[in-house]
Amino acid sequence: MCLTKTPPSDTERPLRGFSSIPQVQTHEGNLGMEESGGNKKRVVIVGGGVAGALVARSLQFCADVVLVDQKEYFEIPWGSLRAMVEPSFAERTVINHSDYLTNARIVASSATDITKSKVVTEDGHSLAYDYLVIATGHMDTVPRTRAERLSQYQAESKKIKSADTVLIVGGGPTGVELAGEIIVDYPEKKVVLVHRGLRLLEFIGFKASQKALDWLTSKNVQVIFDRSIHLDKASDGAIQTSAGETIKADCHFDCTGKQMGSSWLKETFLKDSLDLRGRLMVDENLRVRGHKNVFGIGDITDIKNGGICNAKKADGIFHSKKLDLIGSGITTIPLYYSLFHMISLSMYQEIKQGYLAQKHAHVTVKNLKLLLTGGKESDLFTYKTSINVAIVSLGRKEAVAQFPFLTCIGRMPGLMKSGDLFVGKTRKQLGLKPDQ
Ligand SMILES: Cc1cc2nc3c(=O)[nH]c(=O)nc-3n(C[C@H](O)[C@H](O)[C@H](O)COP(=O)(O)OP(=O)(O)OC[C@H]3O[C@@H](n4cnc5c(N)ncnc54)[C@H](O)[C@@H]3O)c2cc1C
Repeated sequence: MCLTKTPPSDTERPLRGFSSIPQVQTHEGNLGMEESGGNKKRVVIVGGGVAGALVARSLQFCADVVLVDQKEYFEIPWGSLRAMVEPSFAERTVINHSDYLTNARIVASSATDITKSKVVTEDGHSLAYDYLVIATGHMDTVPRTRAERLSQYQAESKKIKSADTVLIVGGGPTGVELAGEIIVDYPEKKVVLVHRGLRLLEFIGFKASQKALDWLTSKNVQVIFDRSIHLDKASDGAIQTSAGETIKADCHFDCTGKQMGSSWLKETFLKDSLDLRGRLMVDENLRVRGHKNVFGIGDITDIKNGGICNAKKADGIFHSKKLDLIGSGITTIPLYYSLFHMISLSMYQEIKQGYLAQKHAHVTVKNLKLLLTGGKESDLFTYKTSINVAIVSLGRKEAVAQFPFLTCIGRMPGLMKSGDLFVGKTRKQLGLKPDQ
């Protein structure tokens, strides 16, 4: 229950014109500590991505909410690859924070420091908090304004349109989905995908990797494994691989994994709350361990136990166990493999997926509402991991999907995702019209 006098649906649907118009604050920094909100508790959310945006929207009428994001807009990540071949798609996927936050302050600047009571931003804001939510995901360099982001998509789509050969670097979900988008819309183009690993989509199982590879090669996408590209040295035209081969390409796209967005925390009081990979260590209530008023959610967390295991580590163990089993005369590898996957549920990092970041956000909203209304610590909600699914789209109609006991490819999983890429659904979660 919220503290403020608002209609019951406020946390589900933003009320346009309710209370103050949100202000996007940018360059005019404030050297003193910024206080506001009267009696209301102050919640500062750092990171306006999938998890942070949802928390800010859901709490905007319950507390004095400030969203700090390095850009002025929220972007639906799973729509971004379609936008590269169809730039008008981005009109629905790139959403100004002020469109869904009608009762919160928006500070469009990077957070650079935190203390136990305030967040400091690059442009000089100093934002006092009672509760802090850190949701800075992975590092990415994107333009600051929506207009700039939309014109970036126009430019990328032009590049793809005019290229004969497109090089994609990275065979994870982003690289595979981009290859699918390009080859379905432009079947006459040559698409080359270079991947450092030995299989595509390493975050899910072998079957899904093989199915995705078969699909791409059936569309004449050239997939090169076990090679990397020095992206800082790469220029369009002729691009060298790590093995010295030259790939001729008119344009190239970097779809390799990004660093955790936690480097800004390394000199703060949370430095000891980061694990070796820069992930924030959180407890079962999604609070940063040892800090009762700081939550960590989304990709930045170290949450263990995913339905789909940390594949690289798991692959290694699977292979060694498979050899042990063969040595002992047991040949029921498929059964063992399924069991292995089930066991791995409890052993490895949760996969970094947006629908899980949204689950983190929902638990955090419930916990913050409880704390904001003076609820008991013992009543806090616990985040429970679940068996995960992964659906990787392959162009506009098909997809490869891994469910707990089924991996499939084609139109059926495509029906679930590939048409609208969950864009309408995600817009609705933010209280926006799905198709506008
Ligand atoms: C191309 C692509 C396709 C994807 N497709 C899917 C899919 O189909 N299904 C799925 O479930 N998941 C998908 N994902 C994964 C999903 O997008 C992520 O798991 C999800 O975005 C994580 O949410 P988050 O809130 O933790 O981080 P993000 O959504 O990355 O948000 C982090 C935010 O923090 C901001 N930020 C970072 N540092 C700072 C700072 N110092 N100060 C202020 N702001 C900062 C960033 O600007 C950003 O807005 C996809 C990802 C990509 C890149």
